[in-house]
Amino acid sequence: MSRFFSEKYKKLVPYTPGEQPKILNLTKLNTNECPFPPSEKALQYAREHTRPMNLYSDIEGVGVREALATLYGLRPENLLLGNGSDEILNFAFMAFCDDDHPAAFPDISYGFYPVFANLNRVPYTEIPLREDFRAAPEDYYGLGKTIFLANPNAPTGIALSSREVEEIVKRNPDSVVVIDEAYVDFGGESCIPLIEKYENLLVVQTFSKSRSMAGARLGFAAGSAELIRDLGTIKFSTNPYNVNSMTQALGLGVLLDEERTRANCRTVMENRAYTAQALECLGFAVLPSAANFLFVRSDRIGGGELYQKLRARAVLVRHFDKERIKDYNRITVGTREQMDILLKNIREILEETP
Ligand code: PMP
Repeated sequence: MSRFFSEKYKKLVPYTPGEQPKILNLTKLNTNECPFPPSEKALQYAREHTRPMNLYSDIEGVGVREALATLYGLRPENLLLGNGSDEILNFAFMAFCDDDHPAAFPDISYGFYPVFANLNRVPYTEIPLREDFRAAPEDYYGLGKTIFLANPNAPTGIALSSREVEEIVKRNPDSVVVIDEAYVDFGGESCIPLIEKYENLLVVQTFSKSRSMAGARLGFAAGSAELIRDLGTIKFSTNPYNVNSMTQALGLGVLLDEERTRANCRTVMENRAYTAQALECLGFAVLPSAANFLFVRSDRIGGGELYQKLRARAVLVRHFDKERIKDYNRITVGTREQMDILLKNIREILEETP
């Protein structure tokens, strides 16, 4: 740390993203990316429609917002684009949290929430998930706090129904409820249809998972025109050109090939069922996942040990040191071939383990 670093950030512990190591022939199942690249149709569209690079990007992201509005039955003023959904989540902490509106989120959830809270000096409460790692909706009723819920949750993969989320939104009429639907396309129920009904509901989604665009960085928020205007005030006060022209063109290309997105999601869901069943046969406890990953534990080998042994065999999964989940690993669901490599290596590791 330099002697110039602002006092207000000296205690900040940054988010630790999943590693991106340069291991040869790596089976990379640690950051929940889509195993399939964007379709040729989407790439071709992006090549033909990217705005000239000497010009600034479209500050309003009109094309992508109009396409999203059509897809989800909204108006463009209900939508704001971000440089990934992480940026939008940060905007939401900036816009809707302060000492009078502290944040609340589950104790086991996306690791960026406490980081954004600390970055923005927002007090926060972590609400313990129940014994079975489920979020009990009633734990969030009448909280008087800005609520952040990943649905499906990460790293557990467990989803609330949209009826359960609606009840939380309804019972916090004076607080913003942010539903982070990064993984919703893999079997969850989106709450986007509810935003017409609730002025306090903000839904955040990403193109990083189901839409194969993690490296291009595109996320969006859907909410009442007023909430979106508030987020816009933050965006235009930090980085007006937050989504670059190539990403906007690719985002539009991907939205024009929605059939491909749906087909990819179906494949991932089939591979998830296949992998979950195979892991259960090997004695693993597998949480019920509505996401593109599985959260698993074995009595035969510790979470950290399995992670290390898989890593030594060029299979990368995600392990968290946090006490409550240290026995688990989070495994991204990839192609069938990747899943077979994972399973083969796990079988061999278990055979070697006394
Ligand atoms: N929310 C959750 C729950 C996530 O797991 C992630 C991915 N790390 C994000 C949001 C952010 O994704 P991105 O910034 O790539 O849109």
